[in-house]
Amino acid sequence: MTVLRRPRISTCLFDLDDALYENTTMQHHVAENIRRYMVERLDFPPDEVAEACADYYLNYGTTLAGLVANGYKVDYDAWHAAVHGSLPYEEYLQPDPALRTLLLSIPLPKYVFTNADRTHAARCLQLLGVADCFERVIAFEDVMEAAEQAGLTHHGCPVMCKPNRQAFEIALKMAGSPEPAATLWVDDSARNITTGHRMGLYSVLVGRTGVACPSDKQIRHIHDLPAATPWLWEGQQPPALSPAAPAPLDGPAAAGSTNATSQAEAVAGKAAAVAKGAVAERTSSDEAIEAVYVAA
Ligand SMILES: [Mg+2]
Repeated sequence: MTVLRRPRISTCLFDLDDALYENTTMQHHVAENIRRYMVERLDFPPDEVAEACADYYLNYGTTLAGLVANGYKVDYDAWHAAVHGSLPYEEYLQPDPALRTLLLSIPLPKYVFTNADRTHAARCLQLLGVADCFERVIAFEDVMEAAEQAGLTHHGCPVMCKPNRQAFEIALKMAGSPEPAATLWVDDSARNITTGHRMGLYSVLVGRTGVACPSDKQIRHIHDLPAATPWLWEGQQPPALSPAAPAPLDGPAAAGSTNATSQAEAVAGKAAAVAKGAVAERTSSDEAIEAVYVAA
C-alpha cells in the first residue's frame, strides 16, 4: 500500500540476519545445517532436500513452517539448536561501531523483528555490539507464543512467522501498537518487505537495490539508511508522494501477481541450485541466499 502522506515515524522495526549485518559464509553454513537436519533427523532423501527447501520457502515462508505444515514432527528448540547453535559466531560477526552509532542516533524506539530464535538473535546482537540499542527483540518464540494464545496457529498454519501478515500484527502489538504508517520497517527479504509495504509500513529493502518488489526505499547496506531517510533524524515526516507519481516499484511485481509468481519460482529454482552446492557469486545469488537462509 503506497501511503501518500505519512505522519512522523514513531517506531522502527529491523530484521536481523542480512539486514543489520551481512555474512554470506554464515548464510551458507546455516543452509547446510538445515539440509543436514532434514536428512539426519527427518529422514529426507539427500537428493530431495534442496527441492523441498525451495518448495517450503515458496509456499510456507520458511523451511521450518513448511516441514511442520506437511506433518513433520519438529521440536522447535532442537531445530534452532541444530541450525544456529553450532555456528562459530565469533568467526562470523565482529563489533560494528558505525552501526551502533547509527542506531543510537535515531531518536525513536527500535525493535528487532526476526524469524530466528531468541538465542541466535541475542548472540548476533551481542557480537555486533548493538544489543542495548533496541527496546526488545521479537523473535520466533515470541511470535509463536502470541499466535498460539490468540488461536492463530492451526493445522493449516502451525508456524507463525514472517512474511505472514498476522506475524507482523503481533510484532506491531509488541512494539507498542504504533500506527503502521508511522512505522519504519527494514528487512533484506523482498517477501517480508512486500507484506510490510502492503500493511502501510514505511518499508526499506536492505541488501539490494533495483528489486521489483513493493517498497518505499531500497538500500545496499544498513549504513546507507541515513542518506536514504534523512528526515528520520530531523524529526520530520517522510516526504509526501504525488498522487500522479507511480508508486515506487509497486504494481505488477507485487507478490501474488503472475509476474511475482514467476519470480518466486525463479528464486526457488536458484535456491535449489545453491542448496545442491552450486557455486554462485554473491551478486548473482542474493535471491537464492535469501530463499535458503530465511528458511531458518
Ligand atoms: Mg533477514
